[in-house]
Amino acid sequence: MTVLRVALDLPLHRLFDYTIDSATPADVGLRVRVPFGRGERIGVVVEVSENSDWPLAQIKPAIEILRDIAPLPAEFFALCNFASTYYQAPLGEVIMQGLPVGLKRLDPPLRRQARPTRPTLAARAPELTDEQSAALAAIDLAGGFSAHLLHGVTGSGKTEVYLRLIARALGDGKQVLLLVPEINLTPQLEGRVRARFTEASVVSLHSELAEAARERNWRAAFAGEADIVLGTRLAIFTPLPRLGLIVIDEEHDQSFKQQDGMRYSARDVGVFRAHQGNIPILLGSATPALESWANAQNKRYALLTLKERANPEATLPAVKLLDTRKMALKEGVSEALIAAIKERLARGEQSLVFLNRRGYAPVLACMACGWVSRCTRCAANMVLHLADRRLRCHHCGFEHRVPKACPTCGNQDIHPFGRGTQRLESWLQEEFPEARILRVDRDSVKNRKQWEVMLERIHGGEADILVGTQMLAKGHDFPKLTLVGALGADAALFAADWRAPERLFAQLMQVAGRAGRAELKGEVLIQTQYPDHPLYAALVAHDYPGFAATLLKEREQAGFPPYTFQAMLRAEAPEMADSIAFLKAAADLPVIAGHQNVMIYDPIPMKLSRLASLERGQLLAESPSRPALQAFLPRWREAIEGLRSPSKLRWHIEVDPLEF
Ligand code: ADP
Ligand code: ZN
Ligand code: ZN
Repeated sequence: MTVLRVALDLPLHRLFDYTIDSATPADVGLRVRVPFGRGERIGVVVEVSENSDWPLAQIKPAIEILRDIAPLPAEFFALCNFASTYYQAPLGEVIMQGLPVGLKRLDPPLRRQARPTRPTLAARAPELTDEQSAALAAIDLAGGFSAHLLHGVTGSGKTEVYLRLIARALGDGKQVLLLVPEINLTPQLEGRVRARFTEASVVSLHSELAEAARERNWRAAFAGEADIVLGTRLAIFTPLPRLGLIVIDEEHDQSFKQQDGMRYSARDVGVFRAHQGNIPILLGSATPALESWANAQNKRYALLTLKERANPEATLPAVKLLDTRKMALKEGVSEALIAAIKERLARGEQSLVFLNRRGYAPVLACMACGWVSRCTRCAANMVLHLADRRLRCHHCGFEHRVPKACPTCGNQDIHPFGRGTQRLESWLQEEFPEARILRVDRDSVKNRKQWEVMLERIHGGEADILVGTQMLAKGHDFPKLTLVGALGADAALFAADWRAPERLFAQLMQVAGRAGRAELKGEVLIQTQYPDHPLYAALVAHDYPGFAATLLKEREQAGFPPYTFQAMLRAEAPEMADSIAFLKAAADLPVIAGHQNVMIYDPIPMKLSRLASLERGQLLAESPSRPALQAFLPRWREAIEGLRSPSKLRWHIEVDPLEF
């Protein structure tokens, strides 16, 4: 009798033993059907053994080992083990979330044949700039592990560096993993990759793919048939037998961090994976994450810099601040910005007005009794969406019709307060009746198809004024766009979240980068009441390094990451008192006394304290030493697992949390 140690997709930090008539160590990494509870499940064989900690008679027999694909390799398990240990996530969950849904189902769907890719004419590569050549020369594909941070201003030709590097890796017979924040927002990049490498097999892996397509692409990657895997964060776990290079574009982007289930950073897992596979990794951004920048400063990453735009005709836009303290505003828009838009209209050029808040207005309120449109399930306001006359909670998705009168006092005079993109759009339409205005946000663009249509319309010159959120900030070339106006940016300057300025700077840099990509000179006008703020001074000077240095000094003085290492314990329950009591108990566990290098703070309610009818609290654990924190976390987690808690309470630990 042989024992299989099986990983199952369960929130438990243990493996499950099953017996089988015959199995060999070569079966490690295969999927297996096993009985579980009253049903069956698919798991993965992690170990084949002669014995078990359980009496053999009590172990259930496995049903069947599945042999339709090759066993998952040892590197895959090593990567999952790392992620499991580092993020305190159950190994079974980590392993199973790395597999496409189709391979985890008991009844596999019928498979369609892969569509042959159409050969197209290969796009010609431009001659490299000196800066691009220097960056490329610094990366040695045959030299084993190395981590590089490519810091290049928008339009400096970072993508071209990726493409050249990918070409070299393909020439060496290697596979390449190229991660992007959101594939749907970057069809241009996918197009450029496919156009450059017409001979190579390019597959994409992201959550919007249909299940069958995702499985097909995963199999091609796993079998070594795909040469380039273009994916979002989930693709970082894909086993790739010939992997020779990892590239992470827009490495600062928050979407590389998974915020639910297993909370991991695909960028950080990527660096570990490159290390493990002894290959180079390239992280690219115009505004690197401060953590990455600090790693470049302390030489853990090699810094490569592109200071100039690749196209010599395209200069960086002139960034100017509009001091709104001294200006009359119409619907939040200054005369100066209105005049600048008029100029563009007259010249047949495009303008973009950036406001990172969708909907018509952030809240609806009654002046008579003080009623505001609160979400009944969250500690948040319901946002007014006039386009379809709904009030909508952007946190839990709850929505209902806009009331005709105040629900508390019956007053019919209820008003929207503040403004979002819909309100801005309708006002601009009144102000510029002749202009063709396109609003671009998650309400007007819900999927990839709509996004492609939208991009085509913008490129086709069908819009004079774009109104949009940060969706528009991602790497797109809009050749006729010469003006960017930014509204409402100040809000992030004094936000409670100490990462808000870093994000604001990145967003404004990105959106500013949309202006003046081609021959037409671009101008960026930022409305602010704080024109002397160092963040804006750095933007005007296009000075990311200066800004990063200032922020890093502040973080060091305040003892924030990357100068400390953090993990957050969060609990949610119908009553806040239960969440806080649980966290308090976790803060008082005796195991903590044995770890002097770790500091535990007091439990507090989360900023968004109530979400979808659950009251949420958090408890921060912090250490000046990564190894000290890592040594502490598993012991703390085990002790927390032993705590009694109300049945409706849920908790998790997030390592390196980004949001508070
Ligand atoms: P980034 O990724 O840094 O924003 P891109 O790679 O998209 O920049 O390049 C910006 C623009 O410059 C693109 O239109 C691209 O085709 C062009 N470009 C890139 N490299 C060169 C080069 N060496 N010579 C001329 N044009 C280039
Ligand atoms: Zn009222
Ligand atoms: Zn809500």
